[in-house]
Amino acid sequence: MKNILSKLFFSLTAALLFVGCAALRTPKSPFADVIQTRIDLVDVQDDKVQISITPPPFKENTTVFYIPQIVPGTYEYSNFGRFAENVQAFDKKGNPLEIKKRDENSWEITQATKLARLTYWVNDTFDGPDGQEIYPMGGTNFEKNQTFLLNLHSMIGYFKGMKEIPYRLTISSPKKLVPFTSLPVLSKSDTLDVFDAQRYFHIIDNPILYSEPNAVSFDLGEIKVGLALYSPSGTHQATAYQAAIEEMMKAQKAFLGDANDTPSYDILLHLMDMERLQYFGGMMGALEHHTSTTVVFVDDMPAGELTQSLVDVVSHEFFHTLTPLNVHSEEIHNFEYNTPVMSKHLWMYEGTTEYFANLFQINQGLIDEADFYNRLLEKINYAQRYDDTMSFTEMSAGIVDEPYQSNYGNVYQKGALINMCLDIIIREQSGGARGILSVMQELARKYGKENPFQDDALFDEIVEMTYPEVGKFIENHIVGGTPIDYSLYLAKVGLIRGETDAALPSVLFQEAGVPFFAPQPNEDGIMEYVISGLNSTIEAMGAQIGDIFLGLDGKILPEIKRENADEINAVFQPSFLWEANKEFSITVKRNGEMLTLTGTLGTPTAKVNGIVEDVLANEAAVTLRKAWLFK
Ligand SMILES: [Zn+2]
Repeated sequence: MKNILSKLFFSLTAALLFVGCAALRTPKSPFADVIQTRIDLVDVQDDKVQISITPPPFKENTTVFYIPQIVPGTYEYSNFGRFAENVQAFDKKGNPLEIKKRDENSWEITQATKLARLTYWVNDTFDGPDGQEIYPMGGTNFEKNQTFLLNLHSMIGYFKGMKEIPYRLTISSPKKLVPFTSLPVLSKSDTLDVFDAQRYFHIIDNPILYSEPNAVSFDLGEIKVGLALYSPSGTHQATAYQAAIEEMMKAQKAFLGDANDTPSYDILLHLMDMERLQYFGGMMGALEHHTSTTVVFVDDMPAGELTQSLVDVVSHEFFHTLTPLNVHSEEIHNFEYNTPVMSKHLWMYEGTTEYFANLFQINQGLIDEADFYNRLLEKINYAQRYDDTMSFTEMSAGIVDEPYQSNYGNVYQKGALINMCLDIIIREQSGGARGILSVMQELARKYGKENPFQDDALFDEIVEMTYPEVGKFIENHIVGGTPIDYSLYLAKVGLIRGETDAALPSVLFQEAGVPFFAPQPNEDGIMEYVISGLNSTIEAMGAQIGDIFLGLDGKILPEIKRENADEINAVFQPSFLWEANKEFSITVKRNGEMLTLTGTLGTPTAKVNGIVEDVLANEAAVTLRKAWLFK
């Protein structure tokens, strides 16, 4: 998974704070039958859709029907059972059978031998009970006659002991909507589509997007890539994003080499409006599947920004085809949806994935060195927000509960940096010849999709494949909780800390996460935003430290107090969606005089204590750096 809080929401929180802080291998199925499942997307009632499930005959008197508590890739309890209502069991003649709700996610049926059919209604997570707790990319959205985002783990359940039985899924849909999914299609018509899933896992692993036709597909060597898009305003077209995705995935394939043998890959891009983004607290992102990914962003993004976000997020998701797809432990292979046992290796599933999503961009010439170093710096800085002494393996095994759950975000920060250090160690020890990518390629060749490794045996295996120095690092910094001194590893490749220009996420910042203004009371005790730092753009416009910040782009700020937070945000919000050529103004008060400063956005940057190349680095370090970045 890759989740991002939109820049917009991130900064608003910061601004509000300022106001406030004025203060398995599948055994052969014993059942010849399939589980027949029907979903009706036509007769939507009260924003709910009806599901009907016909299981094969039961031999036992009692069975349990489960809807998942947790699904792979999310690392948190979701309790999807709460979206199901009015669960009813029937015999062959349509007479109701006794059914008892056991907990939020399971129902017991006592006359199972008579069970012919189960029916229930499901809410969507986009506005269902406490649906904002579910990552939108792992959720469901029902918009009658417009779109249906179906993450089926929130809709379809499984019977005890029957997870390995195939499902046949029949969906009736409005005529104008077409499905887009990597789930194998058995038959298709205007109003009825039939899909096959080999087992329950495939129901979960293949989300479906119904929308009016808006898709592209292209061949990338042997990989068939598809992109379907739903845009509530209709402003975004899939064709507009094909070139960027093609360029990115071509580079990813070149980087991965033979470690990828995925025959097809589908991208389901569901855009939501601003109101929904607010409902989810600014959460956007993507959830990985074996042959597809669901991506949720906000419809208001300009095309340029949406392209960059797609490249960053989809590249991460596509690298998941390496791990966990081709390198995963038994805990992942035999995933327990209702009594989860987690693997210790999030440093790899998410950390290696995120590291590669950045490394391939410099390796394949999509970004330059300075950009790559700034990304590393950003990760070093963000990692400081989490517990740096927490063992990564302990956190991973306990991730669904506290205190680990609130440190989950660190898998994208420190998790990626752990891989950077391992990469540099392996390059150093192998004279530049090998890196973490070659280790992952070897593991993928050895294990692959169908053969999980043993959770406890992976580290010994990696050390055996590589060097004792790798073992020492794992012991100290992945299993152990000793914080990493990144400067040690950066020095090996001739990098040091030094002043550099870093691009800022918005013109409102003076450095990443810090607005250029801070609230201060004036002589009368009235709170004012005083300019406390400059970025390149506002400096060029003539802003000075000490100016009182009154307004942006012609809109004047109300009195700075918590009750006005929405109005204040309304002044700031549009600036997050500006393109580089935007001409705008800032209104300030200087020595009692009101001034309107005008200029063009460009790329606001700030001088930061960043990561730079050491001009005094010796030849060995420079050679190692080249091997690390470009081999
Ligand atoms: Zn991920």
